[in-house]
Amino acid sequence: MITMKDIHKTYANGVTALNGVNINIDQGEFVYVVGPSGAGKSTFIRLIYREVKPTDGTIVVNDTDLSSLKEKKVPFLRRNVGVVFQDFKLLPKLSVYENIAFALEVIEESPRNIRIRVMDVLEMVGLKNKARFIPDELSGGEQQRVSIARAIVNRPKIVIADEPTGNLDPDTSWEIMRIFEEINAKGTTMIMATHSKEIVNTVKKRVIAVEDGLIVRDEHRGEYGYEA
Ligand code: ADP
Ligand code: ADP
Repeated sequence: MITMKDIHKTYANGVTALNGVNINIDQGEFVYVVGPSGAGKSTFIRLIYREVKPTDGTIVVNDTDLSSLKEKKVPFLRRNVGVVFQDFKLLPKLSVYENIAFALEVIEESPRNIRIRVMDVLEMVGLKNKARFIPDELSGGEQQRVSIARAIVNRPKIVIADEPTGNLDPDTSWEIMRIFEEINAKGTTMIMATHSKEIVNTVKKRVIAVEDGLIVRDEHRGEYGYEA
């Protein structure tokens, strides 16, 4: 599903973010990515949806070798990889409905299918009654649920979340976790970078710890392993 072989990433300013990462993640796994700030977690995550290109090494996602993937093929990759950000990244002038439908319009789904699928994912995240609202009219937790709905409406095989609960209070964070578990239970691979010791130590999953650009720990049902 996701394989990285000896991945190195040095940014244009000379900072080396990853320094020889090897990993294999199977379909249907739920993986936390943990580690101190600046360790390379975001870089690791951004490689998977080709926001970042490796300086060296091989990365294969869904049988596609990203090292040789042509720019114009990137949108096809992104259809199979849903992404959720800490700061939601919703389009402020569009309604909840439109924010989600957008992802389907660009792949030219029929209007009827768009309607069915948008309402379907809104139901799943519990926001059917807020389809006409704009992001500013929603709480942070609701906005994150919209961004999750947007991430899954294409039915991707992989969902990636970079500190998805970083801006949310604990109760809201647990709601978001429950939705991720539900998505994972349907067979979607979930990869989540997080600083939440409480979540990682309570909802036990595979834990990959990144420090100084290297994977220093990879445990089945692991612990967070750092002070909160
Ligand atoms: P984390 O997500 O664990 O905080 P990052 O992957 O964001 O780690 O960052 C790893 C290192 O790479 C840090 O030193 C960071 O400053 C640097 N870095 C991240 N993004 C960029 C960028 N776009 N350009 C230059 N350096 C970057
Ligand atoms: P995006 O692709 O999301 O625009 P970039 O890779 O361009 O992200 O990085 C985000 C921003 O962070 C850019 O403006 C980048 O230049 C800047 N940046 C530069 N140096 C660093 C650094 N050391 N750590 C984190 N971000 C950095």
